[in-house]
Amino acid sequence: MSEATTENLIIIGSGPAGYTAALYASRADLQPVVIEGFLWGGLLQQTTEVENYPGFPEGVMGPEMMQKFRDQAERFGTRFITDEASRVELDRDGGVHRVWVGGEEHRARAVVLAMGAEPRKLGVPGEEELAARGVSYCATCDAAFYRDKPALIIGGGDSAMEEAIFLSKFASTVGIVHRRAEFRASQIMIERARSIGNIEFLTPYAIDRFADGDGGSLSRAILRNVDTEETREVEAEGAFIAIGHEPNSRIVEGQVELTDGGNVVTEGKSTRTGVPGVFAAGDLVDHTYRQAITAAGSGCQAALDAEWYLRDTPPSPEAQWVSHDEVEEAMASSS
Ligand code: NAP
Repeated sequence: MSEATTENLIIIGSGPAGYTAALYASRADLQPVVIEGFLWGGLLQQTTEVENYPGFPEGVMGPEMMQKFRDQAERFGTRFITDEASRVELDRDGGVHRVWVGGEEHRARAVVLAMGAEPRKLGVPGEEELAARGVSYCATCDAAFYRDKPALIIGGGDSAMEEAIFLSKFASTVGIVHRRAEFRASQIMIERARSIGNIEFLTPYAIDRFADGDGGSLSRAILRNVDTEETREVEAEGAFIAIGHEPNSRIVEGQVELTDGGNVVTEGKSTRTGVPGVFAAGDLVDHTYRQAITAAGSGCQAALDAEWYLRDTPPSPEAQWVSHDEVEEAMASSS
């Protein structure tokens, strides 16, 4: 067995949920370790101005806000590993949980999972190439750049409707491109969007590709009618993809309960997963609200849940804890 120290708490992920969990846990003197990833700061690192986070009346740039979150956690003793967690082995009995960063093993009595979610991609030509040059995953972040310009929203859920309604205040026209004639969005949101003069519904269409113009930015999208296979070209300087999010739950698959969509399931209003000592927070759990403020709130809850767990649960004797690898090694050497 290697000599890895057993930490009180490892937090995996570094958006508002992870850093808030770290702030609370470090103020509770748990000396947490945050495995924050190379691109620390989560989705807010890719955002411009944040105007709806309380306490910043003038607004704040997303990356600056995450730097402040990180600094505040660091001030109380949080330690950071600026690398990706590559593997996790959670102890179902609530003993010592193990997290690997490459070949390096880290152990902890409690773990907060806060790996967030990524916007789902369409996977069509032009999407990656024109990202941040017209193609975006957040209309509420970037709408102001498309004042008096034609724009598209892709998707048929509440997010698509909400983003279209917001965007319609800026863009000259907003086409909602959806692959079916029926929408997943709630009726009230569909009706609200339909009542806005510069919003047009384009169904049943899939995006075939995005194309750039002379300046190298998005200028048009090629749509394909899903029923007839006919294609048509529409002018668009902004295209906002709102087709849902993929939670970053791959490394805990099979170890904690997940929803069909891949979100981690927690017990009631708590952040407890089904594994003692393992808690989850932020967009990894939340399919619905996905705001910085709600993620931060759940990060706070996760730290408090972890603190109470550590207070109330006597440490399991390290000697009683044997990893799967060690069991396999022992079996191999005895046979
Ligand atoms: P969602 O409800 O899962 O909807 C995703 C939409 O994207 C669906 O219409 C889906 O089409 C489409 N889609 C998925 N993959 C696609 C692909 N590869 N190509 C083309 N289209 C694709 O996600 P959401 O809209 O982000 O909403 C998530 C949750 O937040 C929901 O519970 C929603 O109610 C909630 N929300 C509520 C509000 C509100 O104001 N009340 C606002 C935002 C979000 P299909 O329908 O054909 O599958």
